[in-house]
Amino acid sequence: MLLAVLLGPNANADNFNYGNDSLTCTNQPCPQTNKNFYRYHDANLPAMWEDAVNDTHWNTYTVVPGWNSYNTVVHNDADVHYLIDTTLDYDTAGTYVCSTQSSGGQTCDHGHIRFNGIAPYNSWGAVRKEALACHESAHSVGLKHPTSNVAGAEATYGCVATPHLFSGPPEPDLKSHNRSHMQVSNPY
Ligand SMILES: [Zn+2]
Ligand SMILES: [Zn+2]
Repeated sequence: MLLAVLLGPNANADNFNYGNDSLTCTNQPCPQTNKNFYRYHDANLPAMWEDAVNDTHWNTYTVVPGWNSYNTVVHNDADVHYLIDTTLDYDTAGTYVCSTQSSGGQTCDHGHIRFNGIAPYNSWGAVRKEALACHESAHSVGLKHPTSNVAGAEATYGCVATPHLFSGPPEPDLKSHNRSHMQVSNPY
């Protein structure tokens, strides 16, 4: 299932509605459920992408009360594994896909965030890379694209909205709406 592909259709657009979702991994994004967010940076991850992942965690995820983010060098300890991929579709900037399900297929023990390693993505600036890292990380904690995913949606939905991921001013922040859901919504 690749429903978390950046530009793909969002089959279940009832954003952030953890409580009413069936919470199965066929209903992507299938979230990791650890508020202590352990991430593994693949050896193939270029320094600029690694910086983007670190920056989004330090600047926006760990701002959420009760959430912490750690790097681990032990792959199997990671909730999310970040890597570069040069085989993604040209139109796909990044993906989040759960690879190891848990809780009877309701949550994710280990997922992969892939950044497209080809042009133009590999030459994106630091802020746009951080915006994409913020976006795919959002899917990994269960946040979906907003139902109104149009220009201006970033003001409320931050990096989870996509209109300016590819061009225009990138939004590297989650914004308070998403932080609120990360605090109060299931399954956390
Ligand atoms: Zn997306
Ligand atoms: Zn992995």
